[in-house]
Amino acid sequence: GGPVSTALLGRTADNKTGPPVACLPFRALDDGNATPRFMRPTLHHCPASKDAVHQLKQPFGVFVTPMARPEEGEEPVPVVDCSMTGPVRCGRCKAYVNCFVKWLNNGMKWQCNLCMMVNETPSIYYSGLDGAGQRMDTSIRPELGRGSVDFVVPQSYCVRPPQEPIYAAVVDASPGAVASGFTAHCLEMLTQAVQQGSFKGGQKAKLGIIAFDTQVTYFQLKSEDTEVMSVVMPDVDDPFAPIPGDTWLLPAVGEDGGAAPVEKFRLISEHILKHAATSQAGSHSGGSQVFSAACGVAAMQSAAAGLHALGGRIMLFCHGPPLLGSGWLRPREHVADYGTEREPAMFRPVSTSSKAKEEKEAAELYKRITETCAVRQVSVHLFITDGGVSSGASRGTLPSSYCDIATLSQLCKVTGGGLRFVDGATGKDGMLTSSALETLSVSLSHCIADAAANESVLKVRCSAGLRCTGYNGPGFQRTDQEIEVAACDATSTWFAELKHDTSLKDEERVHIQAALLYTTTEGQRVVRVHNLCLLASTSLPELFRIADLDCIVAANLRNASRQLMSEGVSKVREHTTDKCVEALYQYRINCAKSSPPGQLILPESLKLMPLLTVGALKSPILRPNLADAARGATPPDPRADERAFALFLLDTLSPSHIHRLMQPRFFNLGDLRAATGSSSGPGALVTGSQIHAALPAQLSLSSEHLLDEHCLLLDCNLCFYLWLGRKVPREVLLDLFGVENAGDFNTLQLSDGGDLAHKVRLILKELRHGMPFHAPLKIISAGKKDAEEMRFLNCLIEDKTKHEMSYVDYLCAVHRKIQLRMG
Ligand SMILES: [Zn+2]
Repeated sequence: GGPVSTALLGRTADNKTGPPVACLPFRALDDGNATPRFMRPTLHHCPASKDAVHQLKQPFGVFVTPMARPEEGEEPVPVVDCSMTGPVRCGRCKAYVNCFVKWLNNGMKWQCNLCMMVNETPSIYYSGLDGAGQRMDTSIRPELGRGSVDFVVPQSYCVRPPQEPIYAAVVDASPGAVASGFTAHCLEMLTQAVQQGSFKGGQKAKLGIIAFDTQVTYFQLKSEDTEVMSVVMPDVDDPFAPIPGDTWLLPAVGEDGGAAPVEKFRLISEHILKHAATSQAGSHSGGSQVFSAACGVAAMQSAAAGLHALGGRIMLFCHGPPLLGSGWLRPREHVADYGTEREPAMFRPVSTSSKAKEEKEAAELYKRITETCAVRQVSVHLFITDGGVSSGASRGTLPSSYCDIATLSQLCKVTGGGLRFVDGATGKDGMLTSSALETLSVSLSHCIADAAANESVLKVRCSAGLRCTGYNGPGFQRTDQEIEVAACDATSTWFAELKHDTSLKDEERVHIQAALLYTTTEGQRVVRVHNLCLLASTSLPELFRIADLDCIVAANLRNASRQLMSEGVSKVREHTTDKCVEALYQYRINCAKSSPPGQLILPESLKLMPLLTVGALKSPILRPNLADAARGATPPDPRADERAFALFLLDTLSPSHIHRLMQPRFFNLGDLRAATGSSSGPGALVTGSQIHAALPAQLSLSSEHLLDEHCLLLDCNLCFYLWLGRKVPREVLLDLFGVENAGDFNTLQLSDGGDLAHKVRLILKELRHGMPFHAPLKIISAGKKDAEEMRFLNCLIEDKTKHEMSYVDYLCAVHRKIQLRMG
C-alpha cells in the first residue's frame, strides 16, 4: 500500500475519532479545526478536571508547529489582509475572531469562544446573519471557515520596521577547513544557492559572506565590482562590527526576482580561498584531518553586532569547535568519563553554576550572546563537522574532535535556528568524503527552503478554566505568557502545557488558539492563528480511548531531556519506564478492573507504548554508556556530541519526527527486487502522487532478519544503514553498486544505472521527506563487528542489546511492575 492516505482527512469540532497517528503520512483538510500538522494535543479530548489529568499521570498539552509546510495535495494557509484595521479581537482576552465565535443581535455582537465576553462587532466587519445564526459572508471570509489563517496586520503590530530578508554566511577558512575542502565547498554551495535564486525574500534578499580563522574578515567590492577589498576585525576577544551591515550585504536575488548576478560572490569566494592558501603555506603538512584554532563564535558575534538594527539569519559554518577568541570552548570530552557519573557533564552545556571559574565565565558569556542575538532578532543556524575518523583509521580510538554541541546548540535553540551536525569523516587524501559534502549541501538547501518566519512571538490562549503554563521548545521566554523566537521554521515545534483553573462540564467544547506573530521572509508582518476545538470529558476510558501515543511519549521525552540537565542517565531512564508503567497501571485500575489480574491489559491507543519506550531507552537520547567505554574497550555510543544533537532535535521537532528517533524503520531490499521493472509497488511512485514513493513492508526490529543473502535498509533517523549479508548475490551487488565484489565497503556508492539502485534512491528520498536535515547513507558489511556495525545492531530495538533487555523481556518487566503496583 501507499504511504499516503489519499483520502482527505477532515476533522470537525465534534469528531470523536481523533486524527491519524503522527508517525504515518496523511493528507489533512482544514474544515474549521487546525489540522494535526499544526496542532496535536496529547489527548484528543480535554480532561474535564485537574483530577482527571492527575489520574492519567501523563502530560496534558498541545504540540504546536505553527509554520508546518502543507503536504502534497493540501491547501496552503489562506491569507486575510487586515493591514488597514487589524483582525477583529476579543476586548478582554485578545483572542482572534474565528469560526467558533457566536454571532448575536443579528451580527451586531459576537461572543468570544475562549472567555465568553460579548463584544461589539466593528462596523467595518458587520454582516447580517442567516436563519441558522451564521454570518452571510462566512463563505468569503477564510477566518470564519478555516481553522488556520494568516492575518496581514497593520503597523501597530510592529515594534520596528518589519525585518528584511538578510542572510549572513560566516565561513570557517582556517587551514584545517581549507585543507579538507570544507571552505571551498561551503562557498560553492552558497554561490550556487544565489545562482539558483534559492534565497527567500524576493528582491530584498541580501547575502553577506564573512570568513574567519584566527581573525574575522569582511569583504566589500570596489566601485568597479571587479576587485575585492577585505576589512579585518582583529579583536577576536571582544568582537565588534568593523563596518556597517549594509556595506557587506549584497543582493542575493536578481532584479527580476530570479538569479542574482553571481560574479560578486565568485570573486569573494576566490579571494577567500586564495588568501587562505597563502596564509597556511608552510604551516600545514596535509594528510590526516587537522583542526585549526578558529574563532567561529567570535565571528558570529561580530556579524550579529553588524545586524543589530536589521536582524537576520546567520548561517555559521564551522569545521570544528571554536577554540579561539570570544566564545572559545575547552574540549570537555574525556573517554574515561563515559559510563560514569561524570558523563552527563559532557552532553550538558557549560553551566553558570560550575565551580570551575573558566567554565562559569564561558557559560555566562554564552547566555549573554544568545540573549543578545535573540533580542536583536538574529537567528543562528549552525553547520558543524566533527572531523570524524579518517576512513581506515583504527577503530576504537576516539577521533580527537569534540565539538561541544551541547553548548553550541544553545545559540540555535534560543534564537530558533537550526543545527546540522555532520560526520566530517575524511578519505585517505584528507578531504571530506563525498557523503559529508552531500550532507552539507542538502542541509543548506533545507535551511534555506525551511525558512518561514522571522522575529516571531508565539502565544497560546485557551478557554476559561484552562491555562497555558509554559512552552517547551525553541526560543527566548521573557514572560510566562509568550515565547519569542528570532526564526520559526517549517519544523519548529513547541509543547504548550495546559493546566486547569476550574473544572469543565462533560462534552463541553474547549478551545485552544495558538497565535504566531511574525514577519514573512518577504518582509510582511502577519499573525498566523490556529484554532483547535476539543470536547471535554470526565470519563477516563474515553480519555484513554483517543489518547495520542506519539504526543504523550514525545512530551514525556521532552521532560526527560530537561531532567537530563540535572540528573544522571540511569535515573532519567527509570523515570521514563515509570511513566509507561504509570499510564498502563492507571488504565488497568480505572478502565479494566474486571479483567483477570494476571493478564496484561493495554488500552488500544497506548498498546505500543512499551515498544516506543524501549525504543526511547535504546535511542541516542537515553542509551547508556557502559563503563567499558571508559576503559576504552568499546567506543562510546552515543558520544556526548551525538546525544546533545539528539536532545536538540527532541527539543525542537514535532512528535512525528521524535517518533522516528525512537523507532527505526527496517526494510528488506530484496522486496524491491521482487518487483523489478514494475511501475507500481515498493520503490515506485504512489498512484496519484508526484513525490511519494511506496515503501516495502517494514520488518520487525530484530536480528532474525540478518541472513547471509539479505540486503537490508535501516532508517534510524540520524543516518541510514545499508546492511549487506555475507552472501549477497552477485547480481544484487551489480544492480546496487555496479560492482561484482563488495570489496572496500567504505568506497561503495549506489550506482547510477541500476534499477535496484534507482528504487533505493526513491525509497531514501521518501524516508528523508520532511526532515530538516540530511541523514547520510552508511554501507556496512555483516560480521565485521566494527563500531559502525555495533551501532547498527543497537538500532534493532526488539533484540537484547548489551545495554538493555529485549522488547519481550521489557514488556514482561513492565507487566510485573504493574502487577506489583496492583498488590
Ligand atoms: Zn475573549
